[in-house]
Amino acid sequence: MGSSNRLAGKVALITGGSSGIGESTARLFVQQGAKVVIADIQDDLGLSVCNSIHTKDSISYVHCDVTKDTDVQKAVDFTITKHGKLDIFFSNAGISGNLDQSILALDHEDFHKVFDVNVYGAFLCAKHAAKVMIPAKRGSILFTASASAVSHGDVAHPYAASKHALVGLTKNLCVELGPYGIRVNCISPYGVATPMMRNAMANIAKEEAEELISEAGNLKGAKLEAEDVAEAAVFLGSDESKYVSGLNLLIDGGYTTTNPSFR
Ligand code: NAD
Repeated sequence: MGSSNRLAGKVALITGGSSGIGESTARLFVQQGAKVVIADIQDDLGLSVCNSIHTKDSISYVHCDVTKDTDVQKAVDFTITKHGKLDIFFSNAGISGNLDQSILALDHEDFHKVFDVNVYGAFLCAKHAAKVMIPAKRGSILFTASASAVSHGDVAHPYAASKHALVGLTKNLCVELGPYGIRVNCISPYGVATPMMRNAMANIAKEEAEELISEAGNLKGAKLEAEDVAEAAVFLGSDESKYVSGLNLLIDGGYTTTNPSFR
């Protein structure tokens, strides 16, 4: 690990912080000096993440279903009441849906479920973040998109379309919120072995799934861990990236660049 305290004095709200990428990011943010609020629907997991962190005043949990306007508002209010401000809103909660579905098998419900969390949920997070960041004239809004936001073909349509939509939301919000000193970026990983990824691949043969997860990129010997995505979130949340906005940061080990069908 590099230097510490890269987020000293910052307050961060992280959705989907009970598990996977969000959990790793919450842990790293605390290590880097931030005060963190985890917002999730998995209450027991979220509370146990908080309890496992020794500096207890640095991290807390709030129940928040990102598809509910009042829950997201409540999570922001909780953060402001507890810490007095909100510097970083990491809108990371997401679901895959069934990744292995043909268009012929998909219906409105399949699309709606994925879009409700991945796109509408992100929109609500950005909206409530903007409400407090605009008067503060500063802030960093960060989404987790996916390599599926710029590639095609290896996941089902609702997930790919929802992650493409997040890149569009990032760019549009960058334009609107830049004049208020608010930066908006997204991170696009590929192939982290989190519970979401494992469930999504439940229908695929184990060996094939492991290969897809661990050898997604073309970097020999490298494997993407949730902590690597967290490092990118630290950079984009901190003042180190003070002139970075509208970016979709791919963390895919070269996967989308080296795969000819994605050009
Ligand atoms: P994960 O399942 O470990 O974490 C997702 C978290 O989101 C869980 O804690 C879950 O409870 C929470 N969540 C789901 N629906 C929610 C809702 N309605 N309200 C609040 N919280 C909710 O999976 P992960 O892989 O860490 O996923 C995090 C993000 O990363 C997602 O947006 C996912 O699409 C994205 N992503 C993951 C990968 C990967 O390889 N794992 C690749 C690309 C993008």
